[in-house]
Amino acid sequence: MVTTKKLGGIGAMGSAAARFFHPGDRVREKYPPETRARAINVVITGEAQRRVRHTTHLCYLVSIPDVEGECYIVKKNFRVEVSPETPFDSETQVVRPDPEVVDRAALEDVVPNVRCGPGIEMKLPAAIIALFAATAAEAFQAGIPTGRANTRLSESLVKNPPAGLDSAFDKLVKSNFPGALTNKELAMRVVGLLQEKGFTPENTLLATSVCADELARELEDEFVDIYGTNFNLGGLSGFPFAGNTGWGAMSAHVPDDGYCLTIHGPHVGITKDGIIGKVERSGIALVDSCCGSAIAASNYLQAITDGTADINPKIQSFSDFQQGAVQELILPFGQRLARADDRMRELPYALYDSQEVMVNDIINTGKSTIKKGLAVLGGIQINTSPDTYDYFHPLRFDYFNEDGNLVENLLPYLR
Ligand SMILES: [Zn+2]
Repeated sequence: MVTTKKLGGIGAMGSAAARFFHPGDRVREKYPPETRARAINVVITGEAQRRVRHTTHLCYLVSIPDVEGECYIVKKNFRVEVSPETPFDSETQVVRPDPEVVDRAALEDVVPNVRCGPGIEMKLPAAIIALFAATAAEAFQAGIPTGRANTRLSESLVKNPPAGLDSAFDKLVKSNFPGALTNKELAMRVVGLLQEKGFTPENTLLATSVCADELARELEDEFVDIYGTNFNLGGLSGFPFAGNTGWGAMSAHVPDDGYCLTIHGPHVGITKDGIIGKVERSGIALVDSCCGSAIAASNYLQAITDGTADINPKIQSFSDFQQGAVQELILPFGQRLARADDRMRELPYALYDSQEVMVNDIINTGKSTIKKGLAVLGGIQINTSPDTYDYFHPLRFDYFNEDGNLVENLLPYLR
């Protein structure tokens, strides 16, 4: 059932686990911690910024029955049960909808992107609408990749390509993916830039969100060789399915006073003769799909946009839930992919834009836990045959400081 979260305001009433209220010592007198009690009939008397666990949060000021004086609680920990006469202004201007609340206006903005042929009706799942309406509807409407950067190789690297580079194949890759550079070149530049900021192998945790496919390890290994074993946030197609919980655990594992480098993105194969969406694999005669998960999702979407299939409303199952999620997350790109000159080439960029929504959401939720600094590298991983270099097209390289603020765009330095 879809439920609507009640807004807070002066006079609203609600409840929360007693341990979430501050100051703790006053609340503990009535609710000893071992009872794990829930404080009920708590009345909201105002709102204010308060420091809780070293971070400033917008809190409700509250009056708890039988507890002397005003207390406060981080808003998300409080459940409003009786609405106030007038909700706080801060809550009526909600920018991020509750995933369970369907915004019908946003649905109209997003649905035309999915529909392709005339007369094809479809309804997007509620969670997808809320997710995309929250952050990315404009980009999807325009059909423009949000992060596509026209990167180019620097003079010095053109003159000094990595040893053993197949220059004809290198041209072929770059004609299809302008801005791509070999993983080796990428790692060299990234590590150099981060070194200037203080990142070292000892004080840095590497976190990745790339596909389960063993070919996706190619990029990961390039950085694991430098920073050590990575924390894995990713799943099929490269989506960060470890989510907020994975991020929370990961950021707690960053060395004290240390740094975090995250690398995320989908991957795509290209064969020696330039077929995008396929790749030669070591020991396997069949030149098979890459990324298989992305292409399966693309085929599912194509059948819907062609009008030969409907959205599967029962897509979630525990035995295949990551692919179910990929297939839901790709839905807003029906029109963009149908209109693309080369669907297989456009597919990873569409998935990248989709992943950016999730990645930004996860970072925004968890950025208060950044220690010294966070570097976020995003882009498209390009897998090639076993005897040629793999490539990466960087689309984002952001640096966040210890306060969780995005302070520098490092992407131009990778060009
Ligand atoms: Zn894959």
